[in-house]
Amino acid sequence: LMSILTLNAGSSSLKFSVFDRTASEERLRGHVDGVGADMRLFLSRAGGALQETALPEGARDHADALAAALELIAEAAGERVHAVGHRVVHGGADFAEPVILDTGIEARLRDFIPLAPLHQPHNLAGVAAARRAFPEAPQIACFDTAFHRTHPWVNDTFALPRKYFERGVRRYGFHGLSYAYLAERLTELDPEAHAGRTVIAHLGNGASMCAMKAGLSVGASMGFSALDGLPMGTRCGQLDPGVLLHLMDHDGMASSEITTLLYKQSGLLGLSGLSSDMRTLEASDDPRAAEAIDYFVFRCRRELAAMTAILEGLDAVVFAGGIGENSRNIRQRIGSGFDYLGFSVDEAANAAAKGEAARISPNGAPVRAWMIRTDEESMIARDTARTAGPFA
Ligand code: ADP
Repeated sequence: LMSILTLNAGSSSLKFSVFDRTASEERLRGHVDGVGADMRLFLSRAGGALQETALPEGARDHADALAAALELIAEAAGERVHAVGHRVVHGGADFAEPVILDTGIEARLRDFIPLAPLHQPHNLAGVAAARRAFPEAPQIACFDTAFHRTHPWVNDTFALPRKYFERGVRRYGFHGLSYAYLAERLTELDPEAHAGRTVIAHLGNGASMCAMKAGLSVGASMGFSALDGLPMGTRCGQLDPGVLLHLMDHDGMASSEITTLLYKQSGLLGLSGLSSDMRTLEASDDPRAAEAIDYFVFRCRRELAAMTAILEGLDAVVFAGGIGENSRNIRQRIGSGFDYLGFSVDEAANAAAKGEAARISPNGAPVRAWMIRTDEESMIARDTARTAGPFA
């Protein structure tokens, strides 16, 4: 029995899974949360429910989390590992497809560390650890930026002197593995939308939108870093660069302090002063929680409408990510006031939406709205199976 393994090593979490060699049957899935602080491990076997499981005594940092994950996936994979797939956040401007890693490519990926300092080093540490654990298996990188390499230049450039674009200061777009998964799922659920004009909203702790035309990404709200676009749990989203100048000149803030402010203290957390968690904010009766949600909805609606201009119309909207999949209130609010586009969210269908996917637009509406559960691990597994080929 050959297996495909996946590793998705983030800044404070580690996700992993074991699939069969064709990436259609899931054997094990797990994640470690709170890496570096209060680490917890959750496992699900053969598609069953997630259960918290004890970590080895004293496990604390990224290396401990990786070691624990590798042991579990080695056990579930048995003797024969076909290939290991890695989520790699940044593939730069060149990688539009998953790639089999070798030392040359790994060196190129290290060059992108300054572009994604919170993720890329952990992704590459995962590759090194998996190579030691499974030296015979090809290691395959699946990039969060790859799905967006079909953008036109106007979406990817900033209006800075050309030399900055040339050296890589451009809009790359992220959440590509989620968008690729949702695009594939849409070919089954709503092939006309896949062939047409769709806005996909990936609304989780990190949040972004993608404009997709004929199955290809033509625009995204996240850009050079994972900060731009929509407000997120703790990240600011779109910000006037003049604010940064003000923080430096007026408050004397150093770049490390600004980094902490923009990545960790802003977004829903900064606005509410309470929590980065949408569920907590929805349950709160603090007016600041309501205002934080108002801002989130406002920016989502604005971005969605902007994308209809890029797409020259709209055939479908897809909601995904922890908020998009679970908050009917947010879906309802984002989907209101768009009668002029023929887009609306049906209250009853939206309230009843559950399971893996559900249509939430009114019957016969010209624009379909969908809730679809995204699955980045399964996308990594499929990409890995395809890239490794039958004889790896
Ligand atoms: P990540 O981007 O870290 O993968 P998720 O996609 O899991 O995050 O999304 C986490 C977000 O989803 C949190 O803001 C959480 O509150 C929100 N969320 C999860 N379940 C619900 C729910 N039932 N109602 C509202 N928000 C929810």
